[in-house]
Amino acid sequence: MNFTRESIIQLLAQEDFSPIFQEADALRRTRKGEEIQIRALLEFSNHCRRMCQYCGLNRTNTALPRFRLEPGEILETALEAVEAGYRTVVLQSGEDGWYKPEDIGTIVREIKRHGAAVTLSCGEVPEEVFRYWRECGADRYLLKHETADPELYARLHPDSSLEARVHCLRIIHSLGYETGGGFMIGLPGQTMETVAADLLLLKELDCHMAGIGPFIPHPETLLREASSGSTELTKRAVALARLLLPEANLPATTSLGVLDSDEKRSVFDCGANVIMQKVTPARVRKLYEIYPSRLTDRTISAGRQAVEEEIRGLGRIPV
Ligand code: SAH
Repeated sequence: MNFTRESIIQLLAQEDFSPIFQEADALRRTRKGEEIQIRALLEFSNHCRRMCQYCGLNRTNTALPRFRLEPGEILETALEAVEAGYRTVVLQSGEDGWYKPEDIGTIVREIKRHGAAVTLSCGEVPEEVFRYWRECGADRYLLKHETADPELYARLHPDSSLEARVHCLRIIHSLGYETGGGFMIGLPGQTMETVAADLLLLKELDCHMAGIGPFIPHPETLLREASSGSTELTKRAVALARLLLPEANLPATTSLGVLDSDEKRSVFDCGANVIMQKVTPARVRKLYEIYPSRLTDRTISAGRQAVEEEIRGLGRIPV
C-alpha cells in the first residue's frame, strides 16, 4: 500500500477506525496466521549510563536501587526459560558498561547451543560489538527509535541524537539481524505528524519487528507530571504498522497492558502477533522499572502457563 505522511495523518484522525482495524486483522491472519509468538524477556541489569527523560532507569534517578545479574545467573535463567518452552530469549538491559562484550557473547552462544533464538536489547554499542554479537549467533536486535522528530528526540535524550539512533539501526540491519524498531505514543510534544513520521521510519528502516507502546510517566523523572499515551492511538498505530509492514512481528507491548489489560488483549485483533513475558528473577523484577507497573512474582513456568491460557482464551495459538 502506498502511504504518505498526509494520508497517515488523515487515517489516524478518522472518527471510525474499525474498517482499518479489520483490514489489519485480516492481513495479520493471512501473513502470520493465528499463532501468537511468546518471547521470554530477561532484564539482566538496570544500570544505565543514559539520561532518557522518560525512563525510570535513567542515570539521574538516585531513588532506584540498582541491580545487575552475574553472567552465570543470566545464562541459568535463560536456560530455565528454554526448558519452560520458550523458543526466543530477549536479553534486555540499561546501557551498562560493566559487562564485557565477551560476557554477553558467551551467553548468546550458550543459549543458541540449546536451540533457542536470541534477541538482544542492550542499547547503542559500537559497530564492532554489534558485529561480534551477531557472529556469536544473536538473531535479532531490538532498538526502538523512540520518536522520529529530531528536535523532540534531542530534548528527551540530552546525551544523544536521532541520527545516532538511526545509524545504529542501519548497522543492525546491514549485519543481518532481524531488526526491531519501534516508538512511544503520547510523548509530551508528539503530534500526529510525528506518529506518521514514526510509522514511515519503521518502513524506511525495513524493520522486521516493531514495538509500539504508550508512554507512561514515571514519578522519578522530569516527565512525572505528563499524561500517559492514548491506548486507542496506540492500537491505531499498530494497525497501520501492520498495513505498512505486512510481514513484521508486532508485539502487544507491556506498557499497553499496564495501562489497560483489555486493550492489550484487543490489540491482537488490530494486527499484533507477539507477546513478551518477563522471566526476570522475581527478587529483582520490580527494580527494572522503566515505568511504574504492577508485577506478579510468578515462576517462569507458571508465567508461561498463564500467558498460554490467556492466548487460548482469545482463540489464538500460543507458540
Ligand atoms: N537500553 C535499551 C532498552 C531500553 S528500555 C535501549 O536503549 O534500547 C526498553 C523500551 O522501554 C525503550 O525502548 C522505550 O521505548 C520503553 N520505555 C522507556 N521508558 C518508558 C516509559 N516511561 N513509558 C513507556 N515506555 C517506556
